[in-house]
Amino acid sequence: MADSAETLAIDAFRAQARDWLEDNFPASLRGKAGMALEVMEGGAPTGDLLLWRQRMGAKGWGTPSWPARYGGGGLTQQEARVLGQEMNRIGAFNPLLQGMGVTMIGPTILDCGTEAQKEKHIPPIVRGDVRWCVGYSEPNAGSDLASLQTKCEDVGDHYRINGQKVWTSGAQWSDWCGMLVRTDFAAKKHDGISFLLVDMHQPGIEVRPIALISGASPFCETFFTDAVAPKEALLGELNKGWTVGKRLLEHERASQTGASSGGKATPFQDLAKTYIEVDSGGRIADGELRSRIARHLMDTKAHGLTLARAMAEAKGNGGPTAAASVLKNSATTVAQTRAELTLEVMGHQGLGWDGEDFTAEEIETVRTWLFGKAMSIYGGSAEIQNNIVSKRILGLPDNTQSG
Ligand SMILES: Cc1cc2nc3c(=O)[nH]c(=O)nc-3n(C[C@H](O)[C@H](O)[C@H](O)COP(=O)(O)OP(=O)(O)OC[C@H]3O[C@@H](n4cnc5c(N)ncnc54)[C@H](O)[C@@H]3O)c2cc1C
Repeated sequence: MADSAETLAIDAFRAQARDWLEDNFPASLRGKAGMALEVMEGGAPTGDLLLWRQRMGAKGWGTPSWPARYGGGGLTQQEARVLGQEMNRIGAFNPLLQGMGVTMIGPTILDCGTEAQKEKHIPPIVRGDVRWCVGYSEPNAGSDLASLQTKCEDVGDHYRINGQKVWTSGAQWSDWCGMLVRTDFAAKKHDGISFLLVDMHQPGIEVRPIALISGASPFCETFFTDAVAPKEALLGELNKGWTVGKRLLEHERASQTGASSGGKATPFQDLAKTYIEVDSGGRIADGELRSRIARHLMDTKAHGLTLARAMAEAKGNGGPTAAASVLKNSATTVAQTRAELTLEVMGHQGLGWDGEDFTAEEIETVRTWLFGKAMSIYGGSAEIQNNIVSKRILGLPDNTQSG
């Protein structure tokens, strides 16, 4: 009985979501998730994209399982999954993913923040009114993040911050930064760290975008010179920021488990057959390449099923666990293998940077392949994920300071 009542309720929700999406998702945006990506990379939404963001923000469905009292959708995990399925069905996408607010900072504030911090910071993230960046890495603190040296002093009624962050994605477009600072230089390195929510619009912060070979500057060096933050900017307890910081990383990894850059609309075997020879049975003629493609398709399926099982097992809204490290690594492998195979089957057509000799899909291929390299670095490198799995899931002896 309980099961059938649950099924009826979810069916009713699906119908409701379908109706709302049909009424509110602008048809002109169908299948144009790339536009949301442009906004992530600094662009300002206009026209139908702005309208879609406003509608999703007001409904709270860009943050579907966040509490309704802060403007979130208030949906169960199951309802949020159904919403995702219905959005996929009509080629819709989440327009609120600019910056790190929705995927990392917001969930961490919900887990670790005071009521006042939630009331102040969550609604603007839900509506897409603010952008956040994450200030963790420093010139001498990447994988060994706990070596960070950015200094934060208590100067009576506020904190004063001095130091440098690096690889701060989108810092040049951000309103706020969730950052790790050292508040106790005498303590053991993991024990002297705190987490601050810092306003980027102040004279003490200088942001210098790092120009890449492609000409783009998606991340920055960020310098703090007597920057200030009020006492209520402390997220979690003083000197307990390592725990808060690890929580954010779990949310980051959980958001990177979808192998999304591997998910092309055209089934891979069909794409391959448009570029390379097929035998009389219509199969890819090169047997060795055929088996590598078959293995990749099986790995993709296995990753998808494991992800679905992990989500189904995460009862309620308990949030991510160390298992996100397993899924982040497998998503990365699937996406990187897909990118390598795509280049291989396209041959020189897959290396086109611009111009009329290449289709849009071919031009995107080389960019996807290059960006894929970053996937095993950001959010903690693949080796660091393996260290976390060995320590926190397999219980093997701890021979690293990371994670
Ligand atoms: C696209 C992108 C976006 C990023 N955005 C941000 C951001 O917004 N904010 C931010 O703070 N940072 C950001 N980063 C930085 C990222 O978190 C670091 O690059 C990452 O943690 C690795 O640190 P590192 O570059 O200093 O490399 P290192 O720590 O110097 O590592 C070098 C190599 O050594 C390996 N290694 C290091 N330690 C170990 C160990 N104990 N066991 C095994 N192998 C090890 C690593 O796996 C890696 O292969 C971003 C990085 C990229 C690529």
